Amino acid sequence: MPGSFRIGKIAGIDIDINVSWIIILVLLTVSLATGWFPQLYPGWSTATYWVVGLISALLLFVSVLLHELAHSFVARRRGLPVKNITLFIFGGVSNIEREPTSPGVEFQMAFVGPLTSLLIGAVCFLLQLPLRGSNSPLEGILFYLAVTNVLLGIFNLIPGFPLDGGRVLHSIIWKITGNMSQATRTATLVGQIIAYLFIFGGIWLFFTGYILDGIWIGFIGWFLLSAAQSANTQVNLQSALSGVTVGEVMNPTPPTVPANISLQKLIDEYFLPHGLRFALVMQADRLAGLITLSDIRHIPRERWANVPVSQAMIPLERLHVVSPQQSLSDVLPLMAGRDVNQLPVVQNGALVGILSRDAIVQYLEVRRGLGVNTPKSDTQNQFSKAA
Ligand SMILES: [Zn+2]
Repeated sequence: MPGSFRIGKIAGIDIDINVSWIIILVLLTVSLATGWFPQLYPGWSTATYWVVGLISALLLFVSVLLHELAHSFVARRRGLPVKNITLFIFGGVSNIEREPTSPGVEFQMAFVGPLTSLLIGAVCFLLQLPLRGSNSPLEGILFYLAVTNVLLGIFNLIPGFPLDGGRVLHSIIWKITGNMSQATRTATLVGQIIAYLFIFGGIWLFFTGYILDGIWIGFIGWFLLSAAQSANTQVNLQSALSGVTVGEVMNPTPPTVPANISLQKLIDEYFLPHGLRFALVMQADRLAGLITLSDIRHIPRERWANVPVSQAMIPLERLHVVSPQQSLSDVLPLMAGRDVNQLPVVQNGALVGILSRDAIVQYLEVRRGLGVNTPKSDTQNQFSKAA
């Protein structure tokens, strides 16, 4: 997510915070210190309201983090690698690199998040019971956490994809029909309907005088809508690409350059004259690496005459290579996950071509132009990240 920075690591999982989170932390502290706590617990000092407001807001984010950690731990236990957790304006998101392989795994992964929130809410509620009526800051904080965590759990159980409840719904349809793309289409459709309900509800609140609540709910609806739409686009793309192999789309005559020439020579004699954006680097007829425009940009211009291509390239051992028989629908998430634009295609140790994102886009456009939009076979494949 753009505008995020790392605050630490928990059990090997990177925890990132998006700048939008800080805005919400400030707004939340202000509204707690000037609204919620003074109304429910009159008689505290102004300083107490602010300190309690800030502590409560921070603890709410700790609760969101625990919710996300629950998703991540279950995912990891089920063999799905977790990249990181990002806290942002609407809560948190766990970036899980692969999709669940079965409806059962997806169900557990999705359900454990709201379950964690509901449990935290219940524990906080029980802890504040003996303090009831004491009008103490501790009572105030615990009661606030009880209310917000229960709301968080319930909100996430709304069956609108990509909310956890949407994932639960997805896993149930998947289990019943045995068809994952069908499940995604249905779950994203329900997600879009719910998103529109939020948007219209927000507009209605806005015009009936609840201006801030209206804007907030409208924004959540808009966020849900775009997330559901992108999940839907992805499943359509997956099914358009299923049954198509890397060999059908790759460029069998990729541009190659020698490893020992300087970057300056590479630019003057290869990249500029041929309009290249990348080239495969060869050393004695063997693939040694890949060099792209961005690798060149990382080297200061005044050193271009002295740095050989072999020093600036991505070496073979850091490259992911694919085989011509692999399905595009398997390779695409790999490209997206690693944010790479081209992959060398290798068979029996020999370079046979290169697969680029541009070529995939062109292939899809030609198919669309010819009106052959129907998938070759139904895909049992995936969609995007867990919320
Ligand atoms: Zn969740």
